[in-house]
Amino acid sequence: MSRITDIAVIGGGASGLAAAIEAKNIMPQARVVILEKLDRVGKKILATGNGRCNLSNINMSPEHYHGSVRNAMRIIMSTPPAKEFFGSLGVICSADPKGRIYPKSNTASTVLSALRLRAAEVGVTERCGFEANFIESAPDCFRISSTSGEKYPCKRVIVAAGGYAAPQFGTDGSVIRLLRSKGCHTTKICPAVAPLRVRPELLKGLKGIRAKGRVTAYSGGMFLKEEAGEIQFTDSALSGICVFNMAHLVSQYDGKLTLRLDLAADMDTEQLVGYLRVIQYQRGKHTTEELLTGLFPRNLALYLTKRSLGRSLTDDIASLKDSDLRQVAQLVKNLDFDVLGSAPWKEAQVTCGGISGDCVDDRLQLRSEKGIFLCGEILDVDGDCGGYNLQWAWSSGIFAGRNCAESLRGELI
Ligand SMILES: Cc1cc2nc3c(=O)[nH]c(=O)nc-3n(C[C@H](O)[C@H](O)[C@H](O)COP(=O)(O)OP(=O)(O)OC[C@H]3O[C@@H](n4cnc5c(N)ncnc54)[C@H](O)[C@@H]3O)c2cc1C
Repeated sequence: MSRITDIAVIGGGASGLAAAIEAKNIMPQARVVILEKLDRVGKKILATGNGRCNLSNINMSPEHYHGSVRNAMRIIMSTPPAKEFFGSLGVICSADPKGRIYPKSNTASTVLSALRLRAAEVGVTERCGFEANFIESAPDCFRISSTSGEKYPCKRVIVAAGGYAAPQFGTDGSVIRLLRSKGCHTTKICPAVAPLRVRPELLKGLKGIRAKGRVTAYSGGMFLKEEAGEIQFTDSALSGICVFNMAHLVSQYDGKLTLRLDLAADMDTEQLVGYLRVIQYQRGKHTTEELLTGLFPRNLALYLTKRSLGRSLTDDIASLKDSDLRQVAQLVKNLDFDVLGSAPWKEAQVTCGGISGDCVDDRLQLRSEKGIFLCGEILDVDGDCGGYNLQWAWSSGIFAGRNCAESLRGELI
């Protein structure tokens, strides 16, 4: 058995690295170790933002966060803004026109290196290849066991092991199951920031197409949320950031969620009908196949014309009635897909749901077992796409690290 450690952080991802650094900042004499299952820390960080790491957003507000941790926004606001935090690590950041903050290098490895350099500088130890599978509570300490039978004694534990999303980066939800044995319960769990599956036969011919538009989510005719952006079609799902941001609704409206795409969001229906009348005048002698080819990529144009008219497209455009043009315009602006569910975990970026907010106190310490703190995606907090999830990871990590270190005051020499 190794010498007793003051703070063991389970998980060397975004929140775990932030927690370990902050714990050392607050309590420099504390021995802090990160126990990471993979062969190195921060692998997921390298994949974020398509390798560019969208590490935060300048538009921080509660409507971008979902979940049962009621003080999540207060926690975010009580920690340094990302630009300041990373500035203090030597990483210059800047925001794009949508407010998404990236490192100036546009490279995720800049962010990971800065975190690791600071962690090493303040004396955080990394122990990779350690897959925690049990936390035993002894009278004077905790003992964290690994799958290979190793035991790590420590005075405090910070659990930063992520959720279920993207298991290829080490996160398979096993630590959520471990925490259930510590008296924790979870809210409903499903993939978030993920493509949404729809009936594949409704996507025939659309695979690979990207179109600008507006996505509106409804349940039983009730408006839930809308967002504009690029919509991507695969052979079984709708994708793109504006679709990703609807995925958290699946847990609440499972089986009753419809996405309505408006593929001509910059025109109202009358303007679109007017445009189609002009096309009818200009291209009257051509087949109906050409009705929408001035507006959309060819396969999407054919799909929309066929799905709206419900017949073969061999007639001349001139032969279409005004009601036909209106029918096409209606469909372009109201293309409905019933959602079958989210894409699998390996395609999801975030976990919707997790350890319920009522399992932790205001300091993110477990109510059922003092001395164990939680941070990051393992908790029931998920944010929209755009830097909100990493911001939660940094902030909750700093917050848990700070409170965990403070709780040792008086116990360390
Ligand atoms: C492809 C992709 C792109 C993304 N892009 C962005 C983006 O640009 N902006 C944004 O805000 N968010 C993005 N996210 C989401 C963001 O990466 C996560 O929300 C964030 O990393 C969560 O931080 P965390 O510390 O809670 O968990 P993680 O970063 O997932 O870290 C958890 C760590 O715990 C380790 N671990 C798991 N189980 C054990 C165990 N039993 N024992 C020891 N260690 C264990 C894992 O190996 C992992 O290293 C993206 C996610 C993915 C998958």
